[in-house]
Amino acid sequence: MNEAPMLQLSGVRKVYNQGLPSEVRVLDGAELAVAAGEVVALAAPSGAGKSTLLHIAGLLDTPDAGAVAIAGETLSGLGDRRRTRARRADIGFIYQFHHLLPEFTAAENVMLPQRANGATRTDAAARAAELLDRVGLGARADHRPAALSGGEQQRVAFCRALANAPRVLLADEPTGNLDPATSDRVFGVLMALVRETGLSALIATHNAELAARMDRVVTLQEGRITPGAI
Ligand code: ADP
Repeated sequence: MNEAPMLQLSGVRKVYNQGLPSEVRVLDGAELAVAAGEVVALAAPSGAGKSTLLHIAGLLDTPDAGAVAIAGETLSGLGDRRRTRARRADIGFIYQFHHLLPEFTAAENVMLPQRANGATRTDAAARAAELLDRVGLGARADHRPAALSGGEQQRVAFCRALANAPRVLLADEPTGNLDPATSDRVFGVLMALVRETGLSALIATHNAELAARMDRVVTLQEGRITPGAI
């Protein structure tokens, strides 16, 4: 028996403003399978539908047709509560902007999703410390986001995304807000984390050099996923 892909999108369709003159058919039968441990770059120009696809893959949005499955289990059709639970446990999300909570320290920001997922305070604190250490921020754990540089803030956001040991990581231009040198370095930290944990990842970028560092590059054309570079 073949092993199911870790993340599978089948026939995903999303149309905004359906039936109106302003109708946008963003996804129109998108198909993608990401294997366990595989890191796939989603490289397409702005407006092609990358964020829409990632939101649907991350169960943050529902497709008009088609399905999202994780490890062979279809999750896209579930009710809100079950989707929220699946998202919390199985999916890590990284945005272009860190979205850390300003009133909490780096460690607390990494603890929050674990507490929401039922971890004890002690366990959550230990895991936050371990993750922050791994990205070189052990000494910054008690700092609030405003006291950290852009690259450091984004590294904390990586730790938060991995806090509940998800099976799938989805990232939308994860270093797009950083200067080129910092972006390069911080992307290296992210790839090392992903490889160490054996995560499957789908990472949107329009940086060809970063895309080339992943296992495979796909793009979006007329609402479908096709192999290939930017
Ligand atoms: P990307 O992430 O590749 O830049 P998006 O997924 O953000 O692309 O957007 C794809 C297309 O869908 C764009 O033309 C955008 O204007 C449109 N779009 C995105 N969200 C909405 C929405 N909520 N309502 C209407 N159109 C939208």
